[in-house]
Amino acid sequence: MSASSVLLPLRRLSLSTAASTSSIRAPASTRRAFSTTLRRDATWGFIGLGQMGYAMAKNLRAKIPASDTLVICDVRKEITSKFVEETRAAGVADVPGAAPGNVLSVEVAANAREVAEKSETIITSLPEPKHIKDVFHCILKRGPLPQLAQERLFIDTSTIDPASSKEVANAIHTTLTGRFVDAPMSGGVVGARAGTLSFMFGASSKSGALVERVKSVLLMMGQKVWHMGEQGTGVSAKLANNYILAINNIATAEAMNLGIRWGLNPKTLADMINSSTGRCWPSEINNPVPGVVATAPAGRDYEGGFGVSLMKKDLRLAVLAAQESGTPLELAPVAQRVYDATEEANPGKDFSVVYRYLLEKSDKAQ
Ligand code: NAD
Repeated sequence: MSASSVLLPLRRLSLSTAASTSSIRAPASTRRAFSTTLRRDATWGFIGLGQMGYAMAKNLRAKIPASDTLVICDVRKEITSKFVEETRAAGVADVPGAAPGNVLSVEVAANAREVAEKSETIITSLPEPKHIKDVFHCILKRGPLPQLAQERLFIDTSTIDPASSKEVANAIHTTLTGRFVDAPMSGGVVGARAGTLSFMFGASSKSGALVERVKSVLLMMGQKVWHMGEQGTGVSAKLANNYILAINNIATAEAMNLGIRWGLNPKTLADMINSSTGRCWPSEINNPVPGVVATAPAGRDYEGGFGVSLMKKDLRLAVLAAQESGTPLELAPVAQRVYDATEEANPGKDFSVVYRYLLEKSDKAQ
């Protein structure tokens, strides 16, 4: 069932920035029991409104029924205030079935525990394993959460290592706090804004209802959803994918640099590669040579996009997970050295800036 098909006639709802909130909510008695479809007057939580999370939360707010409430939380207060302001300004214009003049309910929580106390579905989008562990420690440390009409579902979209993800899942499951699903994403900030992300998630297949519920939530922020297997397999799949990405990005930068130094035209070289066996995402979409792909970060001084530091993090987590499973990764140490040196020379840039690092290295070698 689509979100719009379960829309209630819109009640007057208020936007609140206060830690304890004043939004008008439907009485609990009007709520439906557990269902895999979207409930009416439900409360959703979103923790971590960074480059990815902010746009994902915007899409979620636009797609859930207008009478639902979204509770947001980020350690950066300016970002939650901005979210509230933008939602207020947008109003209900884009929400199917919503009456003009009403506002969408967004609440700002003081901390992660408050989000979890109020919300049936809680999404996290945080940088590193330590942030996820901190947030879930905050949620769990004060004992059981109040019971809600529907079992709580925690969906972590962060890229973290499988061991950390399983540790958090275990804490949620053994305390009967709800279900914890790892669902990292691919598609970058552009995909997050456009709602075209791909998610790969790990959740017990024993519960078909759980899998369907996860899919229905993720499809409000993305276009493709892959159920990889049991809890933890989503982050494993993500790290395998990003290991290829890390290597392909360096290989593309090296090959483009090589071809250009041989006198080839960069655009012609890229076009040939993209219709041959060397074709990959860094060559086709995120080409590292300025001017080859108009929309790529290389054309705007490598601003925006996927930062070198995030690539380094994903490589580090892949190496860690590989060591834990006794799997050799021959190219990882070389790639790590390249990204370390690239970041030192070009802090804060898209990871395709590795091309500029190689270019400068080539010039010095002459
Ligand atoms: P980000 O650093 O921009 O955002 C993280 C947000 O979490 C920040 O707003 C930060 O203030 C907030 N935060 C940190 N600790 C918190 C806490 N304890 N409580 C509440 N909020 C807290 O990161 P991002 O680029 O949005 O990435 C998020 C996740 O998605 C990462 O794991 C990243 O690897 C992954 N990812 C990113 C991209 C990308 O292109 N940026 C693509 C795919 C996956």
